[in-house]
Amino acid sequence: MADERAILDIPDLRMLEVATASEHVAEFESSWEVSPHAVALPVLQPSGIPFANEYTVDGVSIRYGGGRGKYLGGIAHEFATQNLGVYLVVRPDMSFARSDVLHVVDIAGEGSAQTCFVKAATRRLLGRILKRAVELVGEACAAVDSEKPGSHVEGIVLDISDLWPIGGDAGRIKLNCFCQECRHHFDGPGTRGLVQEFERFPNPWNLVLKTTESGIGHINDFGWDVLPQKLINLSHLKGFIDDLKGYDAQAAADSVIAYMRARHALTTRVVNEFFTQIREDVGAPELRRVLLLEGEQYGWTSGVFLSQLDDSSVCDELWFNPTAHTFDIERVAYRPYMHRRSRYFVNALFDLMYMCGDEEKRTVVGLAMFSDKAVADLLEHRRRQAVSGRLGTNLDLASLPQPSDDQSRGRIGFVGNTLTDGISKELVGGVSIVPRVSGAIDDPGSDLEGFLSAMIKASTDDP
Ligand SMILES: [Zn+2]
Ligand SMILES: [Zn+2]
Repeated sequence: MADERAILDIPDLRMLEVATASEHVAEFESSWEVSPHAVALPVLQPSGIPFANEYTVDGVSIRYGGGRGKYLGGIAHEFATQNLGVYLVVRPDMSFARSDVLHVVDIAGEGSAQTCFVKAATRRLLGRILKRAVELVGEACAAVDSEKPGSHVEGIVLDISDLWPIGGDAGRIKLNCFCQECRHHFDGPGTRGLVQEFERFPNPWNLVLKTTESGIGHINDFGWDVLPQKLINLSHLKGFIDDLKGYDAQAAADSVIAYMRARHALTTRVVNEFFTQIREDVGAPELRRVLLLEGEQYGWTSGVFLSQLDDSSVCDELWFNPTAHTFDIERVAYRPYMHRRSRYFVNALFDLMYMCGDEEKRTVVGLAMFSDKAVADLLEHRRRQAVSGRLGTNLDLASLPQPSDDQSRGRIGFVGNTLTDGISKELVGGVSIVPRVSGAIDDPGSDLEGFLSAMIKASTDDP
């Protein structure tokens, strides 16, 4: 049997505040009884850039092991001394970039504080930050031991799982992004006039997406070649269009399919351009190109059909959560991400941790409405969601397909994080929630989570 090429994912550098690099490695080994050969480190934190840079006043440092402040390079150095290679993860959501210029715009023209990856300016900025990160981590690895071949930056991981957030309320579904640059793409041959069909209510998305108490219900169990009738059947089965009188399901199905394919084409094109550019910028044509996303056939928030990414012109490797589906990934390599819905619940927890401690988020936007107690409850809820989704046992590993002998295709290992119950409790325990300004609006009560998911972060409601 071929070896498991395992990767330890550090979803947020604050993981290193509560445990050191060697402690995370030990935690990983005690979960799956496999030693990681590489670590995945984030290039961005929700609060900013974790190293000195030309864009922000100071880099964001973390108190390594609860002690001295360290930046990305120092942390990479700690893992390099454990002989681990490094993957750098980019989640293209620079919510700390305050300028609306970079932000996504939904179909109704409302902006939100997440950057649009189609915009050339976003990719240029991310590319520069990433290039600097590759240099810093490369230097940190080289400094460990020049005798040994040692660790180096092996690949770039793009977390595309939430590129295109979904908002919605009262039956209205609002997809992102329809900024000028995105619209320009949809204005191309084959999809001219398509966007206008979605600029009304009801529209074709109502066939396959529905607002619920806890977020957005959706149909995603179909591939690139889905027939319109299948979408209509699934929609009736889920009761999505039962209340919509005079709804033309046939026309809607055709438009939805045209939309998904155009969004997929747009997403893969910009991903491809980004990877090509970064390889060129750092002069490393062998850098592995990895995409991280959820293990669903069509991802409404990633904008891609998973099976269509099995294409070495798009990427070298895919990371997605193991699912009941068998995805026959044959042309590129893949590593299952050992968490339900991949990074979804994990990212949601770290985003909320950040918001709780941020004065502006606590005063101006969504969280401002909630009492300190309600925010603490929500944080604990998110923590439990994140921990319970972890597939952190040897049994979870044993149920995966056998590792492939060929390192360039099929399953070559797995990716796991160390967000255990113990580590997550320490992390959440360290969050000091900024107190609410008195006189703010009262709690909306029991619908807290539903309200928040609709307001702050679009949430698809897979169990
Ligand atoms: Zn856009
Ligand atoms: Zn889903």
